[in-house]
Amino acid sequence: VRLVVVGGDAAGMTAASHVVRAQTDADVVVVERGPYTSYSMCGIPYLVGGEIDGPERLVVRTPDEFREAGMTVHMGTEAVAIDAAARTVRVRDAQHRERDEPYDALLWAAGAHPVVPPLPGAAEHGLVVHTLDEGERLRGVLDARPGIRHVVVVGAGYIGMELAEALVRRQLDVTLLDMAPQVMGSLDPDMADHVQRALERFGIRVRLGEVLLAIREPAGQCREVVTDRGAYRAELVVLAVGARPSVDVPAAAGCEVGVSGALRVDDRMRTTVPGIWAAGDCVEARHLVSGAEVNIQLGTHANKQGKVAGIDIVAAVDDPASRRGDAAFPGVVGTAVTKVCELEIARTGLNESQAQAAGLEYRAVRFTSTARSGYMADPGRVHVKMLAEAGTGRLLGAQLVGTGNVAKRIDVAATWCQVGLTVQQAQLLDLAYSPPFGSVWDVLQVGARKLARELRLSPVL
Ligand SMILES: Cc1cc2nc3c(=O)[nH]c(=O)nc-3n(C[C@H](O)[C@H](O)[C@H](O)COP(=O)(O)OP(=O)(O)OC[C@H]3O[C@@H](n4cnc5c(N)ncnc54)[C@H](O)[C@@H]3O)c2cc1C
Repeated sequence: VRLVVVGGDAAGMTAASHVVRAQTDADVVVVERGPYTSYSMCGIPYLVGGEIDGPERLVVRTPDEFREAGMTVHMGTEAVAIDAAARTVRVRDAQHRERDEPYDALLWAAGAHPVVPPLPGAAEHGLVVHTLDEGERLRGVLDARPGIRHVVVVGAGYIGMELAEALVRRQLDVTLLDMAPQVMGSLDPDMADHVQRALERFGIRVRLGEVLLAIREPAGQCREVVTDRGAYRAELVVLAVGARPSVDVPAAAGCEVGVSGALRVDDRMRTTVPGIWAAGDCVEARHLVSGAEVNIQLGTHANKQGKVAGIDIVAAVDDPASRRGDAAFPGVVGTAVTKVCELEIARTGLNESQAQAAGLEYRAVRFTSTARSGYMADPGRVHVKMLAEAGTGRLLGAQLVGTGNVAKRIDVAATWCQVGLTVQQAQLLDLAYSPPFGSVWDVLQVGARKLARELRLSPVL
């Protein structure tokens, strides 16, 4: 049995490792375009900021370690076409030589690639940071050019914000630009305000509602970022305006692309073409609260989907006619967490605009509380926003922004969203309490009570 995996990071290597362990006689071949396998992209902002000394610290397992585990790993090699009828993948190595790799099963785990807006100067002067080698390149430019003082980061999503913070930590003058009227579009504007103020307190110049028009290089190494409202001087421009799922090669082979622009897969990560699986940033998943198909690019999904794909591939190659893997990927609820400057930011489920787009009738509550018992030396502070469905009381989403170990509390709300718990039920769940960690009534249960009252549902505790 021969498995070819395209993409040597989170989803691809999780699946490949599972197949090698479970099916010791399987011939597992990994094709990776870049120089690294199994690395933490999530650590790139800390590499850029200098908190981590070198890219190798972010590598979990090297190509040689995977080879020792029994795989064939081709680095610097790109998959450029699939012939689904012949079951071959055409690959091109660093010397531009092409060959066909035959497969019984193919896992497409090529992730997503950063969007470079089609604007004058963007491709020549804008740096994107997605893979580890791109993070290394950005750090290399900063180390090699001590004259860099002014940086513009375009895109105020979590990656742009994390990079902006890292650049300020390097004593640079940073402007963060976005065409949206708020930072971090996955939060509601009233919650995003807290984040914007934290960025500004940290010294980042935040410019919102401003559209990038061009990046010019009028003189030497100094660039000018031109927007519809003005121009900013910058020796370095970082583009963090989102990433597009890498689907072109499998789509050309007949794999269906869904409404989100990512590959359609079933709950075993099978694409619509027999013999081809896909997992990670390149696939879409069912949103369990809205029911929509969404492409949410997170390492947490990529690892789980890679595992599900690996389990299904082992089952299918054993008995292609009937076997399916025991594990099924259920879908996502949009849980995400980040830390920007002193603030922890977490969200799950739907925000108000997403609830409206899904046609749901809901109520929202918003309040501020301490993160620990108020009499503790450092009680922290947490801004809470929660949404529940009118009529049923089903929790639709939660957002937390604050200090004092608040971020991972979102996992409780994420579980409520995933299992479809109502705010009536949530009020009496047995959640942990001790003064250093929270209050007798957990903030999420306080929110559930407020929502039950707003929605006139019983009981209200
Ligand atoms: C700066 C940053 C911070 C992040 N922080 C977080 C976080 O805190 N939490 C979180 O959950 N997620 C985070 N993410 C997202 C997370 O890293 C991704 O969701 C995850 O890495 C996706 O895994 P993947 O295996 O699908 O794709 P990738 O990790 O993108 O791996 C795909 C691999 O495929 C290779 N490839 C692409 N095309 C080809 C081809 N044609 N042939 C051969 N190889 C190819 C690429 O070189 C790449 O190595 C962050 C991402 C970035 C960029």
